[in-house]
This record gives sequence, structure tokens and C-alpha cells, in this order.
Amino acid sequence: LSERLSGVFDRLTKQGALSDEDVATALREVRVALLEADVSLPVARDFVKAVQEKATGQAVTKSITPGQQVVKIVHDALIDVLKGEGEPGALKIDNPPAPILMVGLQGSGKTTTTAKLAKRLKDRDGKRVLMASLDVNRPAAMEQLAILGMQIGVDTLPIVKGEDPVAIAKRAKTQAGLGGYDVYMLDTAGRLHIDADLIAQAAAVRDVANPRETLLVVDGLTGQDAVNVATEFDDKIGVSGVVLTRMDGDGRGGAALSMRAVTGKPIKFVGLGEKMDAIETFEPERIAGRILGMGDIVALVEKAQETLELEQSERMMKRMVKGQFNMNDLKMQLEQMLKMGGMEGMMGMMPGMGKMAKQVQNAGIDDTILKRQIALIQSMTKKERANPQILQASRKKRIAKGAGLEVSELNKLLKMQRQMGDMMKKMGKMGKGGMLKQAMK
Ligand code: GDP
Ligand code: MG
Repeated sequence: LSERLSGVFDRLTKQGALSDEDVATALREVRVALLEADVSLPVARDFVKAVQEKATGQAVTKSITPGQQVVKIVHDALIDVLKGEGEPGALKIDNPPAPILMVGLQGSGKTTTTAKLAKRLKDRDGKRVLMASLDVNRPAAMEQLAILGMQIGVDTLPIVKGEDPVAIAKRAKTQAGLGGYDVYMLDTAGRLHIDADLIAQAAAVRDVANPRETLLVVDGLTGQDAVNVATEFDDKIGVSGVVLTRMDGDGRGGAALSMRAVTGKPIKFVGLGEKMDAIETFEPERIAGRILGMGDIVALVEKAQETLELEQSERMMKRMVKGQFNMNDLKMQLEQMLKMGGMEGMMGMMPGMGKMAKQVQNAGIDDTILKRQIALIQSMTKKERANPQILQASRKKRIAKGAGLEVSELNKLLKMQRQMGDMMKKMGKMGKGGMLKQAMK
């Protein structure tokens, strides 16, 4: 993927402006990336279409590189879709005992997630939590939760043989109230597929417990299926949030995007392993990067930017050799200096300039001066910047006033520009072996 994208973005960075065709080409690759990340087809299609509209509208804006513009639009749009309302990791658990209902298919990670969340609530929020298994289908399921509870130091509702899920939920509610628990979590049974029975059971439990949160646990590796499951559960039972498990796997996490786009439900947590602390708050930025394989693209964009800066400074060197050193060049120099840690930092780095750096330091020249000088140049018109020799008294007055500074400071700046220009010319004349020409090879 990254190879394919880098090809496209290489081409984009080489062109001056972003054409409709460029956007379309780049987005075709983005669409493939989404599908490879298991984003469902209709969601990928809609997403790309929305981005295309946005990108085409912005195509004329000035950006450093067109490729970067596309990347940013895609990235931002992804985050927009992934971000739900409210804090991702927050749960409504006021009014103790607050019931949390866990639903999902068998094997999605409900029991594991129940215990992980219970531990998190206990450790982070200091809550007293009671867990109850409502999984009467598999005898081992109740034991599983009881064992996890012992591991993490969270109470589980004592197992009573022969009870149905609704009865267990009622008992959990009573026990949670009597025992002074802040939260009680109901871990329901799952099936391999959604069926009427499963839904009816979950609905009956919901009606008894009246949960503050109904968390749908979904295997993050099951792309398209996950969306159907989520839609079904939300329609029939009502879901307040989603937990995506197995995000530690190789999957690219496209299910997250599909889920958000189709159900609109917030993704609250992601499961990142089998261990009890392998759960984290959902972070849209991270998943967005993962879905697109963004790390590669971002690195690419940075490289492109560097190349651009290099080209700019090469162009400037050529001008300087020819003795063309105007205020635009000086401004670029000053800005570069500011970036490199001011005059001192820069001179300290240049061989033979160490002594001068000391002098600069002694003279009290620092970043403030650089900033003032830049302000003065900014206060000039285009024409003045290109031809500083045209500056007469009235123009000088206007420029200094515009920068909120004295004319004497502007005079110093002009002197500096002339001196640097002369120096550059001399260096350029040092012949074929001249320093600058050498450096440009
Ligand atoms: P349930 O049937 O929905 O209750 O699923 P379980 O909680 O019993 O989990 C089924 C399997 O998935 C177990 O082996 C878990 O250890 C494993 N599992 C759950 N969550 C994760 C996760 O986030 N990452 C990984 N790698 N495994 C998980
Ligand atoms: Mg289970």
C-alpha cells in the first residue's frame, strides 16, 4: 500500500496545484486502502465521495504541497467520522448502583472485556464493582467470570444453578444495592449469530436492569460482519457504546470506521490483548493512522517538505551568487536563523564563527532582534522588498511605523542587507572553486 501511495503522492508533490484529476487519483488509492483495512464497501465509497467534494472545493487553496493537502483532508475526515460525541472512555455510572449491560456475539470478548472494565473502574476510579454472568448456555462461562474476578479482585455474584438470565439480573441488582456497590456489570450470553432468542433474552434483561450503559462488544477483526451485528443489536436492544476487541491483531481496524459511519454509536474502548489491563480509551487519531497506514504517508509528506525547503535554499544560493540579495532573501535567512536557535546557535555551528557568536552574545543580539527585523521586512511592499534601494525617507517612516519601530532600526537592517549582499557577491566571485558554487554541487 505505502508503495502505491508514495507513487501517487510523489507525483502530487511534483506538481504545483491540485487538480480534480490528482484528487481523484489519490482518492482511488485511499479507497483501496480503506477496503484493505476492512472498511465496508458502501462506507468506503461514501467516505471517499465526501472527501472528494471537500478536496475539490479546497483544491485552489495555497498549501505547501498538494499531496499534503489531500493527506490532511483524508486524515481529518477520518477522525471526524471516528469521533463520537462525548469523551470516549467515559461511562455513565452515577446513581449507584449503576448497571452496565454487556452484549455481543459469542467469542467477541464480552467476558474478558467485562472483567477488564471492572478492573479499570476499580483501579482508576476507585469504584466498587460487582460482576454477574448471565451466560446460562455454557456452564464454563460463569466459572470463567468468577475466576477472572478473583484474579483482579472484583466480586462476582454467587452462581446459582438453574436460574435464567432475567432472574440472575434481578439478583445482581438486589445484591448490588444491598452490598453498596457503585456499579454492577451484566455479562450476557452470546451466540455465533444473532437470532431472535438471543435478542429476546437480552431485551428481557435490559428491561429488568434498565442499564445506564449498554456496551456492544465487537471483534475488531471482523470487518463487514461487525457492522451488521452492531446495527441489529442497536435496533433491537439499544446500544450506548461500542468496545472493539482484538485491536492488538494484524487487522487495520476498518471495522471502527464502518461501525461509526453506519450506527453512529461512539466507540468507547479498544481491547488490545488477553491480559486484564489490555484495554484502552478509543483514540480516533490512532485508528485513523492505522486505517490509512498514515505513518508512511506522514513520513513521505515530511520528506517532500524537506525537499521543498532544500530547493528553496538552493534557489536562493543561486541568486546570492549572482549578487541578487534583496529583502525577501534576507527575510528567509532571518527566519531560518530563528528556526535554528537564533544567531548565536547558528554562528556557533559555523566553523570560524564561534568568536563572532560570542560578540553577538555580548552585544545582546537575540531572537527579539530577529523578530523585529522580520517585522520590518513584513511592513514593506512587494516592490520595496525586491528593490530596497528605492527606500526614501517617507517610505522608511511608513515602514518603521508599520512595524512599531524606529527608522534607525530600519537603517541598520538596510545596512545589513547591503553588507550581506556584497559579501555574497564576493563569495560568488571566488571563481569556479568558490565556496557557494561548491556547496551547490
Ligand atoms: P465472549 O464469548 O464474548 O465472552 O468472549 P471471551 O471474553 O470469552 O473471549 C474469547 C477469547 O478472546 C478469549 O480467549 C479472550 O482471551 C480473547 N480476547 C478477548 N478480548 C481480546 C483482545 O482484545 N485481544 C485478544 N488478542 N484477545 C482477546
Ligand atoms: Mg462470555
